[in-house]
Amino acid sequence: MAILKEFEDMCDTPLGKLKQVAEAMTVEMHAGLASEGGSTLGMLISSVDNLPTGNEHGLFYALDLGGTKFRLSRVQLGRKKRRVLEQESTEVSIPPHMMVGTSIGLCDFIAEKLAMFVATEGDGDFHISPSRQRELGISFSYPMTQTSGTPIRWTNPSVSTDGAINQDLVGQLTQSMKRRGVDMRVAALVNDTIRTLAGERYLNNDVVAAVTLGTGTNAAYVERASAISKWRGVLPKSGEMVINMEWGNFRSVHLPLTEYDHALDVESLNVGEQSFGKIISGKYMGDIVRKVLLKMAEEADFFGDTVPSKLRVPFTFRTHEMSALHHDNSPDLTLVGSILKDILGISNTSQETRRAVVEVCITVAERGARLSAAGILGILKKIGRDTVKEGVKQKTVIAIDGGVFKHYSEFSKCLENTLKELLGEEFTDTVVIEHAIDGPRIGAALLAASRSLYHGMKCETGVVVSNPVSSGNIFLLLSVCVALYFFTRR
Ligand code: ADP
Ligand code: MG
Repeated sequence: MAILKEFEDMCDTPLGKLKQVAEAMTVEMHAGLASEGGSTLGMLISSVDNLPTGNEHGLFYALDLGGTKFRLSRVQLGRKKRRVLEQESTEVSIPPHMMVGTSIGLCDFIAEKLAMFVATEGDGDFHISPSRQRELGISFSYPMTQTSGTPIRWTNPSVSTDGAINQDLVGQLTQSMKRRGVDMRVAALVNDTIRTLAGERYLNNDVVAAVTLGTGTNAAYVERASAISKWRGVLPKSGEMVINMEWGNFRSVHLPLTEYDHALDVESLNVGEQSFGKIISGKYMGDIVRKVLLKMAEEADFFGDTVPSKLRVPFTFRTHEMSALHHDNSPDLTLVGSILKDILGISNTSQETRRAVVEVCITVAERGARLSAAGILGILKKIGRDTVKEGVKQKTVIAIDGGVFKHYSEFSKCLENTLKELLGEEFTDTVVIEHAIDGPRIGAALLAASRSLYHGMKCETGVVVSNPVSSGNIFLLLSVCVALYFFTRR
């Protein structure tokens, strides 16, 4: 119990500490916007300077590329603001041999499935004007440099398609689609967090940032383009730019780290990196719990005379199990008992033992959730949404996606409550955390829509304008109108 107590103390996150973390996040954001490599945060300038407005319409396709599978979808957007008329998707597992092959093989495979998917377009209520090329938005679940779409590092351990690390995915997929006879233009390529931001922004204009809390973690938000001092190009017309923070790599002396976190880091494949991610993301939280239990077993015979061997195996105890233990409301913690037995091979646990194990889970989850809230406060501070402006009634929505936020309800509840505590009562109605459910599904297609070549043109029915209208065409059209006018008057 002394080991547990010490761990709890080390993980403590009183409001004062969280505010320091938030402040440090804001400072790192400024530094990352000022110069490349000047911060522990990536603060990558994405290619997205025009998020969906709600006025997009037409048919758009999406490819959401994950670790072991991808999803193809299409959405038909109506002319009325923020109206998804029809939506359809299909999920495809990537055959294991393709995850270690070249990216050409993977792109050919995607193009083949895409061809099949497009072929069924007419079965639903989807339609595209004859002269219009189909447009595709792609989202990706691993870090990449946003402007070229080339992944900077492949952090998803289950995929090692080497070609995709350095080669231009858009170019390759376009080639594969051509070979397959799929006439489609890749209009957008973004990571999953930006995709969530785009989709949620389409549904709700008050969304200013998106956070992913799944196996990994990240955040993206809308920044004033003029605030990005490392930006060398022409400022975008919208005056805005989406920043991919790569916040998993955030580091600060204010983060409450323990000996278990240091051990986890040293044993990891990316030592010294992803400090924030190693505290708050689903990939690691369960393993921190395991490390604490292992120490309790080794130094205090917590589970009996022998140390349960499975406790020594990294990642045997996942965040899934941690959350299941945490949510066990039965009086004698029956579920905790059976999970300890099934997963770690520890049987006949007493109620006190089970309660202590749950205590470890709660400690790790609360630290993660509260620090996530502090990170969000850092973003709000950076964009000036943490103060009330006289006479301005603005609402701020943060959209959160990912398996940890979705399934670990004690974690999400704690995150939301902590943000409320940090902001104070006056923000109860104006700053809202929203669970992103629909946005991620349509986000990539919506980005294709907002960057469509046909954006703003009336081309769904009636006259199809396939090329920018020339002055000659306008003259002809006007002449016809004038002639018709005089003709009907007579
Ligand atoms: P990914 O992040 O891999 O793209 P998800 O967003 O679905 O996919 O997140 C999956 C992660 O969420 C898992 O690795 C796990 O850490 C976490 N997770 C999934 N289900 C649960 C659960 N019931 N309780 C806690 N964590 C969960
Ligand atoms: Mg994901």
